[in-house]
Amino acid sequence: MTTSTTQECQARKAPDTTEAIHELTAHDRCDRCGSQAYVRVELPTGELFFCGHHGREFSSAYSPIALTVQDETDRLYAQHGSKLASTAAAAAS
Ligand SMILES: [Zn+2]
Repeated sequence: MTTSTTQECQARKAPDTTEAIHELTAHDRCDRCGSQAYVRVELPTGELFFCGHHGREFSSAYSPIALTVQDETDRLYAQHGSKLASTAAAAAS
């Protein structure tokens, strides 16, 4: 019984695929406007970085040819959301 769960865990750990993906940081900048990038697009010719705004604007252009699209705009909205929430909380108190 216990051995089967252990094997399942090990099987899930295996792949090297996660190594290629690095989380976008403040050092990654939008190729269009220089804002912090939240979208990384891997193309056959190289990588592109976009902020949330330009990521959306160009998504129809790069989507058909992109190898991978790393979209971290959720993180952007989460940050803004919490900022708004704390502001609202401050205003309420
Ligand atoms: Zn931009």
